[in-house]
Parts: sequence; C-alpha cells; structure tokens
Amino acid sequence: MNRYKRVLLKLSGEALAGDKKTGFDEATCIRVANQVKQLVQEGVEVGVVIGGGNFWRGRTSETIDRTKADQIGMLATVMNCIYVSEIFRFVGMKTQVLTPFECGSMTKLFSKDRANKYFEKGMVVFLAGGTGHPYFSTDTGVVLRAVELEADVILMAKAVDGVYDSDPKKNPNAKKYSEISLKEALDKQLAVVDLSATVLAMENKMPMLVFALEKEESIMKAVHGESDGTIVTA
Ligand code: UDP
Repeated sequence: MNRYKRVLLKLSGEALAGDKKTGFDEATCIRVANQVKQLVQEGVEVGVVIGGGNFWRGRTSETIDRTKADQIGMLATVMNCIYVSEIFRFVGMKTQVLTPFECGSMTKLFSKDRANKYFEKGMVVFLAGGTGHPYFSTDTGVVLRAVELEADVILMAKAVDGVYDSDPKKNPNAKKYSEISLKEALDKQLAVVDLSATVLAMENKMPMLVFALEKEESIMKAVHGESDGTIVTA
C-alpha cells in the first residue's frame, strides 16, 4: 500500500558517486532507477532533486567569490540531473529536467504548471539547479519545490539510515529516532536539513522521511510505509 501520491526524492551528490565519492556510480544510479520505475508503475508521482557534492560545493571554496562558487554548484546539480534522467530513461521511464534558469535546449524552465503537466503524463520530473540562487542549498531547493508542488513528503535518501541523537559514526551508543519533529531536531541541533530548509519546512508543514539510500529497496520501502528510517514531522 502506498502511503503517498506525490513524493520528492532528494539524493545527495555523494550518494550518486557510490564508494568513489566523486562523479557517478552507474550501478547505484540504476538501482535507484529501478525502484523509482516500480513506484511510477504503482501510480506514485516522483520528483527528483539531486545535490552537487560529488562535483562541487560552493561553501567549501575559500578562494573564489561565493556567488560564483554557488553558480558552479548549481550547474553541478544540473549535470547530475541530466545524467540520472538518462539512466532513468535507460530503464524505461519518461523524464523531464526542469531548471529555475535557462540552460538553452538542455533543460526546460521550471514552473508549477509545467511540472504538473509532466506528472500527469506519468513522467519523473527532475528539479535541477536548486533554488536558482546562491547562498542556498539543495536541501532548501527540495523543500521549496515540495511545498510549491504540494508533495505529500520529502524522501531524504542519505548515507546514514535516519536521524540520531548524536553522530553514529563517532558514538556507538547513538540512538536513532523512529519519529522526531523538526522543532525538536532544531532545538537539539541535529541538522536534519540546513536552517533555511528547516524553517521553510516548518512554516509550510512539509514532512520528511530520512533513510539510507544504500539499504535494499529503501526508496520503495519508504513509500510503502515499511522504512526503518526516521519520520520527521513538521
Ligand atoms: N547551490 C546553490 N543554490 C541552491 C542549491 C545549490 O547555490 O539553491 C549550490 C551550492 O554551492 C551547493 C551546491 O550547489 O554547495 C551543491 O548543492 P549541495 O551542497 O546542496 O549538494 P549535496 O550536498 O546535497 O550533494
């Protein structure tokens, strides 16, 4: 049973790179594609937002202007979306990549109406380029698009399998939450998503589900209500 009609899936750039940590890992992307294909066949509308960390993160550059560094980051997310969109087509899905800025003939300009038109056609819609503005992240981009497109939930596919009370890599006794509110996560500084994304999600009551991408069929389980990840309520 699907719990959701429309979901936005957020993949970090690093998740696409697999063990290589940079560029693309084709096998990882095909695993994601096959799960999304099944969900689309079940009638779920899937939007995809991808980070850019496998190529570039604007905030990590200490030499170049932040606005320019962030522009490179946004273009990295566009490259990621074009790549993953093609992998999705390879496994038999119909896709479209939308961006908040013109990329010539490579993508189409985002609008709510256009995205809805593609969803109605059973296509997977890639929402590339983040918010289109520097000083934001793709976390904020995915919350913004989820709110605009009235998604039921954001599926946060991460390297870690949920929200913990401390870093599970450093603390072997770290406790995973099955459910936590954004307010509690904010008070405890658990950084589920960055601050601007948290505020936008709280203001607009957008829930999230945090789970590990690498776990078997994790995206499908998330939509079927069988995930062992963390539900983050708004
Ligand atoms: N970025 C931006 N505005 C946005 C979204 C992203 O400037 O609305 C830039 C920013 O430089 C960021 C980079 O794109 O570091 C890649 O996104 P992010 O760091 O969120 O990628 P992830 O960590 O999820 O792979």
